[in-house]
Amino acid sequence: MIKDMKIHSRQLSFTTPILLSFAGIFVSFIVIAFLVTFSQQKEMLERYHDINRNFTHNLALNYTQSILRENDYILNRAATFFAQDDQLDTTVTGDREHGLKLLMQLLALMPSVSSISLADSRGDHLRAPQVIANAESDQFDARTRPWFMHQAEASMFNHYTSAYEDYFTHNPTVSIYKPVITPDGKLKGTLAFHLDVASMSFTLRTTQSPMPGEFFIVDREGKAMLHPDSGALFKTFVRPELLSAMTSGEGMVYDEKTATWYYYYSFTNPDWFAIYKVSTATLDSLTRHSTLIVSWGFGTAAVLIILFGLYLRHASRTVLMNIIDSINTGDVKRAPKLEAMLSKAILSNKEREQSWVRQATIDALTNCKNRRAFDGDIAALMNDHQPFSLALVDIDNFKSINDIWGHLNGDIVLRNVAREGIQVMQPHTLSVYRYGGEEFAVLFPHTSLTDATALLEQWRKNVEGRSWREEGLTVTFSAGIGEWHMEPLEQLIVSVDEALYKAKQQGKNRILQVNSG
Ligand code: GH3
Ligand code: MG
Ligand code: MG
Repeated sequence: MIKDMKIHSRQLSFTTPILLSFAGIFVSFIVIAFLVTFSQQKEMLERYHDINRNFTHNLALNYTQSILRENDYILNRAATFFAQDDQLDTTVTGDREHGLKLLMQLLALMPSVSSISLADSRGDHLRAPQVIANAESDQFDARTRPWFMHQAEASMFNHYTSAYEDYFTHNPTVSIYKPVITPDGKLKGTLAFHLDVASMSFTLRTTQSPMPGEFFIVDREGKAMLHPDSGALFKTFVRPELLSAMTSGEGMVYDEKTATWYYYYSFTNPDWFAIYKVSTATLDSLTRHSTLIVSWGFGTAAVLIILFGLYLRHASRTVLMNIIDSINTGDVKRAPKLEAMLSKAILSNKEREQSWVRQATIDALTNCKNRRAFDGDIAALMNDHQPFSLALVDIDNFKSINDIWGHLNGDIVLRNVAREGIQVMQPHTLSVYRYGGEEFAVLFPHTSLTDATALLEQWRKNVEGRSWREEGLTVTFSAGIGEWHMEPLEQLIVSVDEALYKAKQQGKNRILQVNSG
Protein backbone atom coordinates (compact mmCIF):
# COMPACT_ATOMS: atom_id res chain seq x y z
CA MET A 1 0.00 0.00 0.00
CA ILE A 2 2.88 2.36 0.85
CA LYS A 3 4.44 1.57 -2.52
CA ASP A 4 1.22 2.56 -4.28
CA MET A 5 1.13 5.87 -2.45
CA LYS A 6 4.60 6.66 -3.76
CA ILE A 7 3.55 6.05 -7.33
CA HIS A 8 0.58 8.29 -6.80
CA SER A 9 2.52 11.23 -5.37
CA ARG A 10 5.41 11.13 -7.86
CA GLN A 11 5.63 14.22 -10.07
CA LEU A 12 4.32 13.31 -13.48
CA SER A 13 4.83 16.66 -15.17
CA PHE A 14 6.10 15.84 -18.63
CA THR A 15 5.88 18.93 -20.75
CA THR A 16 7.52 21.27 -18.21
CA PRO A 17 10.92 19.48 -18.24
CA ILE A 18 10.79 19.34 -22.02
CA LEU A 19 10.08 23.06 -22.28
CA LEU A 20 12.74 23.83 -19.65
CA SER A 21 15.32 21.70 -21.46
CA PHE A 22 14.57 23.35 -24.75
CA ALA A 23 14.66 26.79 -23.19
CA GLY A 24 18.07 25.86 -21.79
CA ILE A 25 19.27 24.61 -25.16
CA PHE A 26 17.90 27.71 -26.84
CA VAL A 27 19.55 30.14 -24.41
CA SER A 28 22.91 28.31 -24.62
CA PHE A 29 22.61 28.34 -28.37
CA ILE A 30 21.92 32.09 -28.49
CA VAL A 31 24.93 32.76 -26.23
CA ILE A 32 27.17 30.58 -28.39
CA ALA A 33 25.81 32.18 -31.57
CA PHE A 34 26.57 35.66 -30.23
CA LEU A 35 30.06 34.69 -29.10
CA VAL A 36 30.87 33.00 -32.41
CA THR A 37 29.47 35.88 -34.48
CA PHE A 38 31.25 38.45 -32.33
CA SER A 39 34.60 36.66 -32.45
CA GLN A 40 34.21 36.01 -36.15
CA GLN A 41 33.50 39.69 -36.74
CA LYS A 42 36.60 40.60 -34.75
CA GLU A 43 38.66 38.07 -36.65
CA MET A 44 37.25 39.37 -39.94
CA LEU A 45 38.17 42.94 -39.01
CA GLU A 46 41.71 41.81 -38.10
CA ARG A 47 41.96 40.10 -41.46
CA TYR A 48 40.82 43.21 -43.32
CA HIS A 49 43.36 45.30 -41.38
CA ASP A 50 46.03 42.81 -42.45
CA ILE A 51 44.94 43.00 -46.09
CA ASN A 52 45.00 46.80 -46.00
CA ARG A 53 48.39 46.98 -44.30
CA ASN A 54 49.68 44.57 -46.88
CA PHE A 55 48.33 46.67 -49.70
CA THR A 56 49.95 49.81 -48.23
CA HIS A 57 53.23 47.94 -47.85
CA ASN A 58 53.13 46.91 -51.51
CA LEU A 59 52.10 50.38 -52.62
CA ALA A 60 55.14 51.81 -50.81
CA LEU A 61 57.77 49.22 -51.67
CA ASN A 62 56.85 47.61 -54.98
CA TYR A 63 55.64 50.77 -56.57
CA THR A 64 57.01 54.01 -55.09
CA GLN A 65 60.23 52.86 -53.47
CA SER A 66 61.40 50.89 -56.49
CA ILE A 67 61.02 53.92 -58.79
CA LEU A 68 62.72 56.25 -56.36
CA ARG A 69 65.61 53.84 -55.68
CA GLU A 70 66.24 53.50 -59.42
CA ASN A 71 66.50 57.26 -59.79
CA ASP A 72 68.68 57.44 -56.66
CA TYR A 73 71.07 54.92 -58.09
CA ILE A 74 71.40 56.69 -61.44
CA LEU A 75 71.77 60.09 -59.75
CA ASN A 76 74.62 58.73 -57.63
CA ARG A 77 76.39 57.20 -60.60
CA ALA A 78 75.88 60.30 -62.75
CA ALA A 79 77.08 62.67 -59.99
CA THR A 80 80.23 60.57 -59.63
CA PHE A 81 80.71 60.70 -63.39
CA PHE A 82 80.39 64.50 -63.57
CA ALA A 83 82.77 64.89 -60.62
CA GLN A 84 85.64 63.32 -62.58
CA ASP A 85 88.15 65.64 -64.20
CA ASP A 86 86.34 68.62 -65.67
CA GLN A 87 83.26 66.64 -66.82
CA LEU A 88 80.74 69.08 -65.32
CA ASP A 89 82.41 72.18 -66.79
CA THR A 90 82.84 70.53 -70.19
CA THR A 91 79.19 69.50 -70.22
CA VAL A 92 77.69 72.82 -69.04
CA THR A 93 80.00 75.41 -70.56
CA GLY A 94 82.12 73.44 -73.04
CA ASP A 95 80.46 71.40 -75.78
CA ARG A 96 76.82 72.04 -74.82
CA GLU A 97 75.51 70.05 -77.80
CA HIS A 98 77.44 67.01 -76.67
CA GLY A 99 76.44 67.71 -73.07
CA LEU A 100 72.77 67.83 -74.01
CA LYS A 101 73.11 64.51 -75.79
CA LEU A 102 74.75 63.05 -72.70
CA LEU A 103 71.95 64.23 -70.42
CA MET A 104 69.29 62.98 -72.87
CA GLN A 105 70.88 59.52 -72.78
CA LEU A 106 70.63 59.66 -69.00
CA LEU A 107 67.02 60.83 -69.19
CA ALA A 108 66.09 57.92 -71.42
CA LEU A 109 67.00 55.54 -68.57
CA MET A 110 64.39 57.02 -66.24
CA PRO A 111 60.74 57.03 -67.31
CA SER A 112 59.66 58.86 -64.12
CA VAL A 113 62.04 61.78 -64.69
CA SER A 114 60.80 64.50 -67.01
CA SER A 115 63.94 66.65 -67.17
CA ILE A 116 67.48 66.93 -65.87
CA SER A 117 69.31 70.02 -64.72
CA LEU A 118 73.09 70.29 -64.43
CA ALA A 119 74.37 73.54 -62.97
CA ASP A 120 77.86 74.61 -62.03
CA SER A 121 78.50 76.45 -58.80
CA ARG A 122 78.33 79.82 -60.56
CA GLY A 123 74.80 79.13 -61.77
CA ASP A 124 75.61 78.25 -65.38
CA HIS A 125 72.96 75.75 -66.32
CA LEU A 126 72.27 73.04 -68.84
CA ARG A 127 68.84 71.49 -69.01
CA ALA A 128 67.66 68.47 -70.94
CA PRO A 129 65.45 68.50 -72.84
CA GLN A 130 66.62 71.85 -74.15
CA VAL A 131 64.95 75.08 -73.00
CA ILE A 132 63.69 77.31 -75.81
CA ALA A 133 65.28 80.69 -75.48
CA ASN A 134 62.75 83.44 -74.73
CA ALA A 135 62.28 86.37 -72.38
CA GLU A 136 61.39 84.14 -69.52
CA SER A 137 64.25 81.76 -69.98
CA ASP A 138 66.65 84.69 -70.16
CA GLN A 139 65.54 85.67 -66.65
CA PHE A 140 66.27 82.19 -65.31
CA ASP A 141 68.80 81.92 -62.51
CA ALA A 142 69.64 78.37 -61.43
CA ARG A 143 70.81 79.67 -58.06
CA THR A 144 67.23 80.56 -57.11
CA ARG A 145 65.96 77.03 -57.68
CA PRO A 146 65.09 74.85 -54.64
CA TRP A 147 67.37 72.10 -55.91
CA PHE A 148 70.47 74.29 -56.31
CA MET A 149 73.28 73.50 -53.87
CA HIS A 150 75.06 76.58 -52.58
CA GLN A 151 77.35 74.67 -50.25
CA ALA A 152 79.11 71.35 -50.61
CA GLU A 153 77.84 68.61 -48.44
CA ALA A 154 78.70 64.94 -48.56
CA SER A 155 75.84 62.62 -47.82
CA MET A 156 74.85 59.08 -48.62
CA PHE A 157 71.36 60.32 -49.22
CA ASN A 158 70.08 62.28 -52.12
CA HIS A 159 68.02 65.36 -51.46
CA TYR A 160 64.37 65.82 -52.31
CA THR A 161 62.79 69.22 -52.73
CA SER A 162 59.32 70.03 -51.51
CA ALA A 163 56.69 70.35 -54.18
CA TYR A 164 57.16 73.40 -56.36
CA GLU A 165 56.23 74.68 -59.81
CA ASP A 166 58.75 74.12 -62.60
CA TYR A 167 60.12 77.40 -63.88
CA PHE A 168 59.82 76.52 -67.55
CA THR A 169 56.90 74.06 -67.82
CA HIS A 170 54.87 75.38 -64.87
CA ASN A 171 54.12 71.74 -64.04
CA PRO A 172 54.06 70.57 -60.41
CA THR A 173 57.46 69.12 -59.73
CA VAL A 174 59.57 67.43 -57.10
CA SER A 175 63.30 67.33 -57.72
CA ILE A 176 65.89 64.88 -56.54
CA TYR A 177 69.36 66.41 -56.48
CA LYS A 178 72.93 65.90 -55.42
CA PRO A 179 76.03 68.03 -55.23
CA VAL A 180 78.78 67.20 -57.72
CA ILE A 181 81.95 67.06 -55.65
CA THR A 182 85.38 66.21 -57.06
CA PRO A 183 87.50 63.53 -55.37
CA ASP A 184 89.63 66.36 -53.97
CA GLY A 185 86.57 67.91 -52.31
CA LYS A 186 85.65 70.84 -54.59
CA LEU A 187 81.96 71.65 -55.14
CA LYS A 188 81.56 71.70 -58.89
CA GLY A 189 77.78 72.19 -59.03
CA THR A 190 74.46 70.39 -58.75
CA LEU A 191 72.84 67.55 -60.67
CA ALA A 192 69.04 67.49 -60.37
CA PHE A 193 66.37 65.13 -61.75
CA HIS A 194 62.93 66.67 -62.03
CA LEU A 195 60.32 64.04 -61.32
CA ASP A 196 57.23 63.91 -63.46
CA VAL A 197 54.81 63.45 -60.54
CA ALA A 198 51.77 63.77 -62.77
CA SER A 199 52.74 60.85 -64.97
CA MET A 200 54.09 58.92 -61.98
CA SER A 201 50.70 59.42 -60.40
CA PHE A 202 49.03 58.15 -63.52
CA THR A 203 50.27 54.63 -62.81
CA LEU A 204 48.61 54.84 -59.39
CA ARG A 205 45.32 55.19 -61.18
CA THR A 206 45.66 51.70 -62.63
CA THR A 207 46.25 50.29 -59.17
CA GLN A 208 43.30 48.51 -57.59
CA SER A 209 42.82 48.81 -53.84
CA PRO A 210 41.43 45.77 -52.00
CA MET A 211 38.42 47.74 -50.72
CA PRO A 212 36.88 51.16 -51.37
CA GLY A 213 39.25 53.81 -50.00
CA GLU A 214 41.85 56.42 -51.01
CA PHE A 215 45.54 55.82 -51.39
CA PHE A 216 48.33 58.29 -52.14
CA ILE A 217 51.83 59.38 -51.20
CA VAL A 218 52.16 62.49 -49.02
CA ASP A 219 55.10 64.44 -47.69
CA ARG A 220 55.67 65.40 -44.05
CA GLU A 221 53.17 68.29 -44.34
CA GLY A 222 50.47 65.94 -45.58
CA LYS A 223 50.54 67.25 -49.17
CA ALA A 224 49.94 64.68 -51.88
CA MET A 225 53.16 63.96 -53.77
CA LEU A 226 51.61 61.17 -55.79
CA HIS A 227 47.87 60.75 -56.20
CA PRO A 228 45.72 58.76 -58.65
CA ASP A 229 43.95 62.04 -59.41
CA SER A 230 46.72 64.33 -60.77
CA GLY A 231 44.46 67.35 -60.07
CA ALA A 232 44.78 66.56 -56.38
CA LEU A 233 48.57 66.81 -56.35
CA PHE A 234 50.16 69.02 -53.67
CA LYS A 235 46.88 69.48 -51.87
CA THR A 236 46.80 68.59 -48.19
CA PHE A 237 45.26 65.17 -47.59
CA VAL A 238 46.38 64.20 -44.13
CA ARG A 239 46.33 66.41 -41.05
CA PRO A 240 49.86 66.90 -39.68
CA GLU A 241 48.85 65.69 -36.18
CA LEU A 242 47.84 62.38 -37.73
CA LEU A 243 51.19 62.17 -39.52
CA SER A 244 53.04 62.81 -36.28
CA ALA A 245 51.17 59.82 -34.81
CA MET A 246 52.66 57.63 -37.54
CA THR A 247 55.83 56.91 -35.62
CA SER A 248 56.57 53.34 -36.76
CA GLY A 249 58.03 52.28 -40.09
CA GLU A 250 54.57 51.08 -40.99
CA GLY A 251 51.29 50.57 -39.22
CA MET A 252 47.83 52.00 -38.82
CA VAL A 253 46.34 55.03 -37.12
CA TYR A 254 42.70 55.65 -36.35
CA ASP A 255 41.28 59.12 -36.90
CA GLU A 256 38.31 59.56 -34.61
CA LYS A 257 37.23 62.82 -36.21
CA THR A 258 36.51 61.25 -39.59
CA ALA A 259 36.06 57.66 -38.32
CA THR A 260 38.74 56.51 -40.71
CA TRP A 261 41.61 54.07 -40.54
CA TYR A 262 44.94 55.32 -41.97
CA TYR A 263 47.30 52.52 -43.00
CA TYR A 264 50.76 53.94 -43.55
CA TYR A 265 54.28 53.19 -44.61
CA SER A 266 56.84 55.83 -43.82
CA PHE A 267 59.84 56.30 -46.14
CA THR A 268 63.12 57.54 -44.72
CA ASN A 269 64.33 59.40 -47.79
CA PRO A 270 62.34 61.26 -49.00
CA ASP A 271 60.36 61.91 -45.80
CA TRP A 272 57.16 60.75 -47.40
CA PHE A 273 54.34 58.47 -46.37
CA ALA A 274 52.39 55.94 -48.39
CA ILE A 275 48.84 56.23 -47.08
CA TYR A 276 45.77 54.12 -47.60
CA LYS A 277 42.65 55.36 -45.84
CA VAL A 278 39.49 53.31 -45.36
CA SER A 279 36.43 54.47 -43.45
CA THR A 280 35.09 52.32 -40.59
CA ALA A 281 31.73 52.36 -42.38
CA THR A 282 33.35 50.47 -45.27
CA LEU A 283 35.06 48.00 -42.93
CA ASP A 284 31.88 47.50 -40.91
CA SER A 285 29.75 46.84 -43.95
CA LEU A 286 32.33 44.33 -45.22
CA THR A 287 32.61 42.45 -41.91
CA ARG A 288 28.86 42.51 -41.53
CA HIS A 289 28.51 41.14 -45.01
CA SER A 290 30.94 38.30 -44.40
CA THR A 291 29.30 37.29 -41.09
CA LEU A 292 25.85 37.59 -42.62
CA ILE A 293 25.80 33.98 -43.82
CA VAL A 294 26.85 32.74 -40.37
CA SER A 295 24.20 34.91 -38.72
CA TRP A 296 21.57 33.59 -41.09
CA GLY A 297 22.70 30.05 -40.30
CA PHE A 298 22.42 30.66 -36.57
CA GLY A 299 19.04 32.36 -37.00
CA THR A 300 17.67 29.43 -38.98
CA ALA A 301 19.04 26.96 -36.43
CA ALA A 302 17.39 28.96 -33.60
CA VAL A 303 14.04 28.83 -35.40
CA LEU A 304 14.50 25.08 -35.94
CA ILE A 305 15.23 24.56 -32.22
CA ILE A 306 12.04 26.41 -31.32
CA LEU A 307 10.03 24.43 -33.87
CA PHE A 308 11.45 21.11 -32.65
CA GLY A 309 10.79 22.13 -29.04
CA LEU A 310 7.17 22.90 -29.86
CA TYR A 311 6.87 19.72 -31.86
CA LEU A 312 8.31 17.61 -29.03
CA ARG A 313 5.92 19.25 -26.59
CA HIS A 314 3.02 18.51 -28.89
CA ALA A 315 4.24 14.97 -29.54
CA SER A 316 4.75 14.27 -25.85
CA ARG A 317 1.21 15.44 -25.15
CA THR A 318 -0.02 13.09 -27.82
CA VAL A 319 2.04 10.26 -26.32
CA LEU A 320 0.53 11.02 -22.91
CA MET A 321 -2.94 11.01 -24.41
CA ASN A 322 -2.27 7.67 -26.04
CA ILE A 323 -1.02 6.22 -22.76
CA ILE A 324 -4.12 7.42 -20.98
CA ASP A 325 -6.35 6.17 -23.77
CA SER A 326 -4.78 2.75 -23.71
CA ILE A 327 -4.98 2.51 -19.90
CA ASN A 328 -8.60 3.56 -19.86
CA THR A 329 -10.09 1.55 -22.64
CA GLY A 330 -13.13 3.79 -22.44
CA ASP A 331 -13.53 7.21 -24.05
CA VAL A 332 -11.45 9.88 -22.40
CA LYS A 333 -12.09 13.48 -23.34
CA ARG A 334 -8.86 15.44 -23.74
CA ALA A 335 -8.42 17.60 -20.66
CA PRO A 336 -5.74 20.21 -20.03
CA LYS A 337 -4.49 18.47 -16.87
CA LEU A 338 -2.86 15.60 -18.66
CA GLU A 339 -0.59 14.72 -15.77
CA ALA A 340 -3.49 14.48 -13.31
CA MET A 341 -5.32 12.27 -15.75
CA LEU A 342 -2.30 10.03 -16.10
CA SER A 343 -1.94 9.61 -12.34
CA LYS A 344 -5.64 8.85 -12.03
CA ALA A 345 -5.49 6.34 -14.84
CA ILE A 346 -2.44 4.61 -13.33
CA LEU A 347 -4.05 4.57 -9.89
CA SER A 348 -7.35 3.10 -11.08
CA ASN A 349 -5.37 0.64 -13.16
CA LYS A 350 -3.46 -0.39 -10.02
CA GLU A 351 -6.71 -0.87 -8.10
CA ARG A 352 -8.16 -2.94 -10.89
CA GLU A 353 -5.03 -5.04 -10.99
CA GLN A 354 -5.21 -5.64 -7.23
CA SER A 355 -8.83 -6.73 -7.48
CA TRP A 356 -7.86 -9.09 -10.29
CA VAL A 357 -5.12 -10.55 -8.12
CA ARG A 358 -7.67 -10.94 -5.30
CA GLN A 359 -10.12 -12.54 -7.62
CA ALA A 360 -7.49 -14.87 -8.90
CA THR A 361 -6.53 -16.12 -5.41
CA ILE A 362 -9.78 -15.88 -3.40
CA ASP A 363 -12.60 -18.38 -3.50
CA ALA A 364 -15.82 -16.51 -4.24
CA LEU A 365 -18.16 -18.75 -2.20
CA THR A 366 -16.22 -19.08 1.03
CA ASN A 367 -13.86 -16.06 0.94
CA CYS A 368 -11.03 -18.44 1.74
CA LYS A 369 -7.92 -18.50 -0.38
CA ASN A 370 -8.39 -20.85 -3.31
CA ARG A 371 -6.59 -24.00 -4.36
CA ARG A 372 -4.29 -22.07 -6.70
CA ALA A 373 -3.15 -19.90 -3.76
CA PHE A 374 -2.64 -23.03 -1.66
CA ASP A 375 -0.46 -24.65 -4.31
CA GLY A 376 1.62 -21.46 -4.63
CA ASP A 377 2.00 -20.88 -0.87
CA ILE A 378 2.97 -24.46 0.03
CA ALA A 379 5.46 -24.58 -2.85
CA ALA A 380 7.02 -21.32 -1.62
CA LEU A 381 7.36 -22.69 1.95
CA MET A 382 8.99 -25.87 0.66
CA ASN A 383 11.34 -23.91 -1.63
CA ASP A 384 12.50 -21.79 1.29
CA HIS A 385 12.82 -24.89 3.55
CA GLN A 386 10.52 -23.25 6.10
CA PRO A 387 9.17 -25.64 8.76
CA PHE A 388 5.38 -25.83 8.72
CA SER A 389 2.36 -28.06 9.54
CA LEU A 390 -0.46 -28.90 7.19
CA ALA A 391 -4.06 -29.62 8.15
CA LEU A 392 -6.73 -31.06 5.83
CA VAL A 393 -10.33 -30.51 6.92
CA ASP A 394 -13.38 -32.37 5.50
CA ILE A 395 -16.96 -31.63 6.51
CA ASP A 396 -18.71 -34.70 7.88
CA ASN A 397 -21.70 -36.15 6.00
CA PHE A 398 -21.95 -33.20 3.71
CA LYS A 399 -23.65 -35.23 1.03
CA SER A 400 -26.62 -35.79 3.31
CA ILE A 401 -26.67 -32.08 4.35
CA ASN A 402 -27.04 -31.30 0.69
CA ASP A 403 -29.66 -33.97 0.28
CA ILE A 404 -31.75 -32.94 3.30
CA TRP A 405 -31.43 -29.14 3.30
CA GLY A 406 -30.79 -28.52 -0.31
CA HIS A 407 -27.73 -27.47 -2.27
CA LEU A 408 -28.24 -23.79 -1.47
CA ASN A 409 -28.21 -24.42 2.25
CA GLY A 410 -25.18 -26.64 1.67
CA ASP A 411 -23.44 -23.57 0.25
CA ILE A 412 -24.43 -21.52 3.31
CA VAL A 413 -23.02 -24.25 5.59
CA LEU A 414 -19.77 -24.24 3.57
CA ARG A 415 -19.47 -20.46 3.88
CA ASN A 416 -20.15 -20.48 7.63
CA VAL A 417 -17.70 -23.28 8.38
CA ALA A 418 -15.10 -21.30 6.43
CA ARG A 419 -15.95 -18.10 8.34
CA GLU A 420 -15.46 -19.92 11.68
CA GLY A 421 -12.05 -21.09 10.47
CA ILE A 422 -11.01 -17.67 9.25
CA GLN A 423 -12.07 -16.10 12.57
CA VAL A 424 -9.80 -18.49 14.47
CA MET A 425 -6.80 -18.34 12.09
CA GLN A 426 -6.69 -14.73 10.90
CA PRO A 427 -5.53 -13.21 14.25
CA HIS A 428 -2.48 -15.52 13.96
CA THR A 429 -1.96 -14.40 10.33
CA LEU A 430 -2.80 -17.91 9.20
CA SER A 431 -4.81 -18.56 6.06
CA VAL A 432 -7.63 -21.02 5.43
CA TYR A 433 -7.73 -22.45 1.91
CA ARG A 434 -10.64 -24.11 0.12
CA TYR A 435 -8.89 -27.29 -0.90
CA GLY A 436 -11.73 -29.07 -2.66
CA GLY A 437 -15.56 -29.15 -2.69
CA GLU A 438 -16.20 -29.29 1.09
CA GLU A 439 -12.57 -29.66 2.04
CA PHE A 440 -10.32 -27.00 3.55
CA ALA A 441 -6.64 -26.79 4.21
CA VAL A 442 -4.60 -24.73 6.74
CA LEU A 443 -0.86 -24.01 6.56
CA PHE A 444 0.92 -23.34 9.88
CA PRO A 445 4.37 -21.89 9.25
CA HIS A 446 6.59 -21.37 12.33
CA THR A 447 3.97 -22.99 14.59
CA SER A 448 4.53 -26.08 16.67
CA LEU A 449 2.32 -29.07 15.90
CA THR A 450 0.76 -28.74 19.34
CA ASP A 451 -0.17 -25.08 18.82
CA ALA A 452 -1.43 -25.83 15.33
CA THR A 453 -3.57 -28.71 16.63
CA ALA A 454 -4.93 -26.48 19.38
CA LEU A 455 -5.99 -23.80 16.86
CA LEU A 456 -7.61 -26.44 14.68
CA GLU A 457 -9.36 -27.86 17.72
CA GLN A 458 -10.68 -24.37 18.48
CA TRP A 459 -12.16 -24.20 14.99
CA ARG A 460 -13.68 -27.68 15.33
CA LYS A 461 -15.33 -26.83 18.64
CA ASN A 462 -16.69 -23.52 17.26
CA VAL A 463 -18.30 -25.37 14.33
CA GLU A 464 -19.64 -28.14 16.50
CA GLY A 465 -21.11 -25.70 19.00
CA ARG A 466 -22.61 -23.43 16.41
CA SER A 467 -26.39 -23.21 16.24
CA TRP A 468 -27.93 -23.18 12.78
CA ARG A 469 -31.07 -21.53 11.52
CA GLU A 470 -32.35 -24.85 10.17
CA GLU A 471 -33.82 -26.86 12.93
CA GLY A 472 -32.04 -30.12 13.65
CA LEU A 473 -28.97 -29.21 11.60
CA THR A 474 -25.62 -29.95 13.17
CA VAL A 475 -22.37 -29.60 11.30
CA THR A 476 -19.00 -31.08 12.22
CA PHE A 477 -15.77 -31.74 10.46
CA SER A 478 -12.89 -34.13 10.70
CA ALA A 479 -9.24 -33.21 10.13
CA GLY A 480 -5.78 -34.66 9.77
CA ILE A 481 -2.69 -32.67 10.66
CA GLY A 482 1.03 -33.33 10.18
CA GLU A 483 4.45 -31.65 10.19
CA TRP A 484 6.54 -31.39 7.07
CA HIS A 485 9.79 -33.32 7.28
CA MET A 486 11.28 -32.27 3.96
CA GLU A 487 9.40 -35.07 2.16
CA PRO A 488 7.88 -34.45 -1.28
CA LEU A 489 4.52 -32.68 -1.38
CA GLU A 490 2.55 -35.73 -2.51
CA GLN A 491 3.92 -37.80 0.35
CA LEU A 492 2.94 -35.13 2.88
CA ILE A 493 -0.57 -34.89 1.42
CA VAL A 494 -1.00 -38.67 1.47
CA SER A 495 0.03 -38.96 5.13
CA VAL A 496 -2.19 -36.05 6.23
CA ASP A 497 -5.04 -37.51 4.13
CA GLU A 498 -4.51 -40.85 5.86
CA ALA A 499 -4.84 -39.16 9.28
CA LEU A 500 -8.07 -37.53 8.04
CA TYR A 501 -9.33 -40.88 6.80
CA LYS A 502 -8.55 -42.42 10.19
CA ALA A 503 -10.44 -39.57 11.93
CA LYS A 504 -13.47 -40.37 9.74
CA GLN A 505 -13.14 -44.04 10.56
CA GLN A 506 -12.85 -43.39 14.25
CA GLY A 507 -16.26 -41.66 14.22
CA LYS A 508 -15.69 -38.22 12.65
CA ASN A 509 -15.79 -34.82 14.37
CA ARG A 510 -12.17 -35.18 15.47
CA ILE A 511 -8.65 -34.24 14.62
CA LEU A 512 -5.87 -36.79 14.22
CA GLN A 513 -2.14 -36.13 13.93
CA VAL A 514 -0.11 -38.10 11.44
CA ASN A 515 1.25 -41.37 12.88
CA SER A 516 -0.68 -40.97 16.09
CA GLY A 517 -2.41 -44.31 15.65
P1 GH3 B 1 -17.90 -37.89 4.75
O1 GH3 B 1 -18.31 -37.58 6.13
O2 GH3 B 1 -17.28 -39.26 4.62
O3 GH3 B 1 -16.94 -36.85 4.20
O4 GH3 B 1 -19.19 -37.90 3.93
P2 GH3 B 1 -19.60 -36.90 2.86
O5 GH3 B 1 -21.04 -36.92 2.62
O6 GH3 B 1 -19.06 -35.51 3.17
O7 GH3 B 1 -18.89 -37.50 1.60
P3 GH3 B 1 -18.18 -36.82 0.37
O8 GH3 B 1 -16.98 -36.12 0.79
O9 GH3 B 1 -17.96 -37.93 -0.64
O10 GH3 B 1 -19.23 -35.87 -0.22
C1 GH3 B 1 -18.95 -34.50 -0.54
C2 GH3 B 1 -20.13 -33.86 -1.12
O11 GH3 B 1 -20.06 -32.46 -1.03
C3 GH3 B 1 -20.33 -34.20 -2.55
C4 GH3 B 1 -20.82 -32.93 -3.18
O12 GH3 B 1 -22.12 -33.01 -3.70
C5 GH3 B 1 -20.83 -31.95 -2.08
N1 GH3 B 1 -20.30 -30.71 -2.50
C6 GH3 B 1 -19.05 -30.54 -2.97
N2 GH3 B 1 -18.89 -29.19 -3.28
C7 GH3 B 1 -20.04 -28.53 -2.94
C8 GH3 B 1 -20.48 -27.18 -2.99
O13 GH3 B 1 -19.77 -26.27 -3.42
N3 GH3 B 1 -21.75 -26.88 -2.56
C9 GH3 B 1 -22.57 -27.87 -2.08
N4 GH3 B 1 -23.79 -27.53 -1.66
N5 GH3 B 1 -22.20 -29.15 -2.08
C10 GH3 B 1 -20.94 -29.51 -2.46
MG1 MG C 1 -15.11 -34.97 0.99
MG1 MG D 1 -17.23 -34.93 3.68
